[in-house]
Amino acid sequence: MNLVIFGPQGSGKGTQGHMLSEDYDLHVVDAGQILREAAAKHNPRGKQLREFMNHGRLVPSKLMNEIITTHLNSVSWKKGLLFDGYPRKKVQLHALERYMKHCGEDLDAVVYLSISQQTTVERLRDRVLCNVCGRIYNLSLHPPKDRDTCVCGGVLIRREDDTPRAIRTRLKVFHKQTKPLLEIFEKQGILITIDAEDGVHAVYKKVVTQLKARGAID
Ligand code: AMP
Repeated sequence: MNLVIFGPQGSGKGTQGHMLSEDYDLHVVDAGQILREAAAKHNPRGKQLREFMNHGRLVPSKLMNEIITTHLNSVSWKKGLLFDGYPRKKVQLHALERYMKHCGEDLDAVVYLSISQQTTVERLRDRVLCNVCGRIYNLSLHPPKDRDTCVCGGVLIRREDDTPRAIRTRLKVFHKQTKPLLEIFEKQGILITIDAEDGVHAVYKKVVTQLKARGAID
C-alpha cells in the first residue's frame, strides 16, 4: 500500500503517519524532515534551503523532486510508502506519479486530515519535536512525560518555522498551492477525507476504518 497523508500544518500528518507506519510497516517519506536534515548542513544547499523554509515558503519543485527521488533511490521498503508533506504542487505530483510508475507501483489512497485554521494555529503554538527521532508532541494535548525529553532520550525543540509569521505564510501557501491537489485526488477516486479536529486516537481510528473499508489495509 502506498499512501499520501495530506493536510494543513498542525493537522496531525506526522503523528498519524508515524502510527500508520508502525502498525502497517510503511516507510515514511517525511519531506519536511528530509529537508530539515539537508538544511542543517553547512553547505550552499543547506543555506539555500534555510532561506525558503525559515520564511515558510516552498522549496522550488525541481529541487524538491530531486531531493525526494534521491531519498527514494537510497532506501528500501517492503510493504509500502507513506508520503508526508509531498507532493505539495501539481508538478511534484506528476514527478511522483512518474517515479511510482517506473517502480511498477501506484498511489492507493490519499488521507486528507481536515482542520480549521484556528485549530492549526493553536496546535502549532504548543508543538515541540524531538531533535533525534522527529517524534512530535503537543505541550497541552499530548505532552511528553518529561517536559524537555523525548521517549528516545532526544531533546525536544521548537521548529524554527513555527513562528506566527511563518505559520501565516505556510497556511496561505497550503491553501493556494497545495490544496488544489485535492481535486485531482478526488477525480482519481483515491481521496479519503477525515475530520481531524478530534484527539489523536479518535482520528487514528477513523483513518484505519476508512483505509480498511477501501481495502487499502487488512
Ligand atoms: P513540513 O515539516 O511538512 O511543515 O515542511 C517544512 C517546510 O519544508 C515547508 O514549510 C517548506 O518550506 C518545506 N517543504 C516541505 N515539503 C515541501 C514540498 N513538498 N515542496 C516544497 N517545500 C517543502
